Amino acid sequence: APGELLASLEGLSKEYGGVHAVENVDLELRSGEVVGLIGPNGAGKTTLVNMLSGLIPPTSGLATVLGTQVGRVPVHRVAKAGVSRTFQHSKLFNRLSALENVLVGGHLVSRPTFLRRLLWLPSARRDELAALDHAARCLERVGLYDLAGSRASSLSYGDQRRLEIARALASDPTLLILDEPAAGMNHVEANRLSDLIGSLAADGLTILLIEHNVGMVLSTCDRIVVLNFGKVIATGTPDEIAADATVIEAYLGSA
Ligand code: ATP
Repeated sequence: APGELLASLEGLSKEYGGVHAVENVDLELRSGEVVGLIGPNGAGKTTLVNMLSGLIPPTSGLATVLGTQVGRVPVHRVAKAGVSRTFQHSKLFNRLSALENVLVGGHLVSRPTFLRRLLWLPSARRDELAALDHAARCLERVGLYDLAGSRASSLSYGDQRRLEIARALASDPTLLILDEPAAGMNHVEANRLSDLIGSLAADGLTILLIEHNVGMVLSTCDRIVVLNFGKVIATGTPDEIAADATVIEAYLGSA
């Protein structure tokens, strides 16, 4: 249901040999929200979402995401609970088609198909067709249906970044974490991405957006969280954040 509590972080911290990458962060994510996570380089954004998606365990504190205590269970369990993400640096399979890249993303949900195929069960064929159909719909969702057969490496930069989102959608996530999806995009591509994020949220997805393009974050998000030196220094609506003196001093002023 919209507004339902999906994730709650309490006193979440990560230390690397005395460096407080993330320090005592409290944060709640609610169903259907688009939340922006901004902050200067080294503020701890990546470390925070790495904990949220279960890739690294916190040094202390608690992160409950979709009923799962992330950091205490293997990362595939977090994915299965409904968390999916893209990465700052593209991890596409360049020689595979756009469709194949999405199928790889969906392998998590179609593992039984693989087993059934090994056992030559007739249901495997039906499941494979369903997986293809699902992957095609993920491509359609991000506007790449017409390029399904194209090699990933032949797509434009903006299309490659949207393909990563299509792949993240393949596991039918509830919470989608996007790590700097607009990095390197031009204005037109960034606007198109912003529209896509809005339409995914309208479909009920909850989105956490890490982004250096502050203009895009302000125009896309319902709520923004600002990190600086590992700590949350402000949380608020785009209007509140744009007018926040602490944020301007720490981040916007120097951006
Ligand atoms: P950027 O915007 O540049 O991606 P960020 O906000 O994502 O930065 P992090 O990458 O989370 O910031 O880094 C936060 C701090 O933690 C930095 O000081 C960084 O050097 C440190 N850090 C992150 N990962 C590690 C690690 N594996 N080992 C040691 N220090 C780390």
